[in-house]
Amino acid sequence: MNDLLSTPIEYLKGVGPQRGAILRKEAGIYTFGDLLYYFPFRYVDKTSFQKISDIPQTDGFVQLKGKVVSLREVATGRIKRLEAKFEDGSGSIDLIWFKGAKWIKSKLQNLPELIVYGKPKQFGPKWNIAHPEMEAVSSAQEPAGGLQAVYHSGEKLQALGFTSRGFENIISQLLPQLKNQIDETLPPYIIGDLNLLSKEKALLEIHAPQNNELAKRAQFRLKFEELFFLQMELLMRKQITQKKLKGIKLTRVGEFFNDFYTNHLPYQLTGAQKKVIKEIRTDISSGMHMNRLLQGDVGSGKTLVALMVMLIAVDNGYQACIMAPTEILATQHYNTICEFLKNMNLKVELLTGSTKQSKRKILHEQLKSGEINILCGTHALLEKVVEYKDLGIAIIDEQHRFGVAQRSRLWTKNDLPPHVLVMTATPIPRTLALTFYGDLDISVIDEMPPGRKAIQTWHKTESSRLKIFQFLENEIEKGRQVYIVYPLIQESEKMDYQNLMDGYESITRRFPIPKYRVSIVHGQLKPEVKEYEMQQFVKGITNIMVATTVIEVGVNVPNASVMVIESAERFGLSQLHQLRGRVGRGADQSYCILMTGYKLGQDAKARLETMCETNDGFKIAEVDLRLRGPGDIMGTQQSGLLNLRLSDLSRDAQIVQLARDKARDLIERDPKFELKEHQNIANELRKILKSKPNWSRIS
Ligand code: ADP
Ligand code: MG
Repeated sequence: MNDLLSTPIEYLKGVGPQRGAILRKEAGIYTFGDLLYYFPFRYVDKTSFQKISDIPQTDGFVQLKGKVVSLREVATGRIKRLEAKFEDGSGSIDLIWFKGAKWIKSKLQNLPELIVYGKPKQFGPKWNIAHPEMEAVSSAQEPAGGLQAVYHSGEKLQALGFTSRGFENIISQLLPQLKNQIDETLPPYIIGDLNLLSKEKALLEIHAPQNNELAKRAQFRLKFEELFFLQMELLMRKQITQKKLKGIKLTRVGEFFNDFYTNHLPYQLTGAQKKVIKEIRTDISSGMHMNRLLQGDVGSGKTLVALMVMLIAVDNGYQACIMAPTEILATQHYNTICEFLKNMNLKVELLTGSTKQSKRKILHEQLKSGEINILCGTHALLEKVVEYKDLGIAIIDEQHRFGVAQRSRLWTKNDLPPHVLVMTATPIPRTLALTFYGDLDISVIDEMPPGRKAIQTWHKTESSRLKIFQFLENEIEKGRQVYIVYPLIQESEKMDYQNLMDGYESITRRFPIPKYRVSIVHGQLKPEVKEYEMQQFVKGITNIMVATTVIEVGVNVPNASVMVIESAERFGLSQLHQLRGRVGRGADQSYCILMTGYKLGQDAKARLETMCETNDGFKIAEVDLRLRGPGDIMGTQQSGLLNLRLSDLSRDAQIVQLARDKARDLIERDPKFELKEHQNIANELRKILKSKPNWSRIS
């Protein structure tokens, strides 16, 4: 059957060399197999139509059957459009084209009755559909079951007859040849368990479904297949990396860990913290290399987990480092860790871009000699000159800001690679985590330290400004502190700075010295000044911190109880959530106030509503995924690695999970694919692994 599927497309009946060339160029269809996998993106149900009179009650796309009764060309200013009045007996609607008027006119002339598909929009009392899909009723041979596949096409494809219908025609040439030609790739027990269609049946039904249910089952089978092999691939890669990569064995839980745990830990660990420390301990004592992602919402106490894990490394005679994306954060880690360890005999140091040359030299030497136990810092830790005596574990905080290349540099620091723990406060929806980090282990801190009150979030506009100032005054009166954050987007940097400075001025006018103190922090300040201002706020000397998003990540001031976000509509959801996470860190009731303009787009509204509704980072991440799509969240570079034809990571979460579970079961049962029923899978995987570069080594 491989022969058949790899046959060049021009040999298919009805294609030929010229049309074959356009299929290759415009649709990437080189072979019969490519055409078979050119799936329809939706179906038209030829048996069900809406009435024009019902349009105001519909939502989204409609399919109408009727006649064009008049045609005219209209010009508004320089924009011309073609307008067709379309009636179906229940009412009329305008069909509109801004392009291709000539072609549409000639097409409409010969159509007595037609089917129109599109999304109606309202303009005043009238409705119209712009650039609808159209088809003659007479030419539509009713597909069996009434469902017609619709394929993507384009101008150049259409010019050679590859309209959606044109694709349907050539596919109908191909399908009958496939009977008994498509090998099954999944073992019978999976097909049975999930009640899947056979691969052949699914490929036939997805193009020409007999009914709705079969269309759905065909899609399900093929999506499952796609995601299953993706998960198999990720798990295999993980196996391969682990086999190849022996890790440093950190078996001792000794003096430092125990001393800290019994004598210096200021509070009880949460259950979730205990759980992940245990997971990590199991990993790093196994003799395998650990590559683990630790997810925990802002404020869930990741720093403490990091510290305790570093103590295990020290207990075993190794060094540990923790790396943060900004100087402020690195410094804060350093201070936190020093505070935790102040009564213990350990050497903790800080290395950042602004560490003085003379100090640096000393640090480098002390690192090499092993004198330093724990090193905190920024990217500076990755520089070539930084050498350790024995680095046992590297912890990376807020992994989103580090590139893959930077992380991979840590590998060069040792003979045996240090264990890597990547910590992120940006909850990644499980679907994405399983897909993008499928070859990492994942730990989740899903519980907050006790005594936290849920942050109250409000959405406000300019008209409430005075009331909000009053509210801030009251909070400051109670001894609390306030953040006010302004957006700073590169493209509009100048204006943004202007807004920030204007805001700062009006705040200092409303909260004047000497009664109040206001700090300001932004990217154009010198690091020393920034640091000074931050420290003033951390120490509680300033009441209000006016800032750009430099404070987004990590900063910990438990006494701050209000976060005001200006122009909140300009921030993404995960960024808003991160910012909000700066408050609510103490025992007091905290508030987040989202200030916006009056006019908001749909997505902005959805973001603000989500923020007001929930504090749950994972829920927010799910919404974010729906609004933005996986590419934007993970970075297009990484999403390009996943060529998913059918599945949509934001909608098919359940199938991802199912695929993951089945893939894991299979590998556990038959890790070397020795069972006969797994031979197909082994073959398929060999193909996949061969065809892709090794991109999975993210740390
Ligand atoms: P994040 O996960 O955002 O990095 P942090 O590690 O900064 O969170 O912790 C947030 C705050 O919670 C800190 O003030 C920290 O001291 C405190 N904290 C951490 N663990 C606990 C615990 N088990 N009980 C009480 N407070 C805790
Ligand atoms: Mg943190």
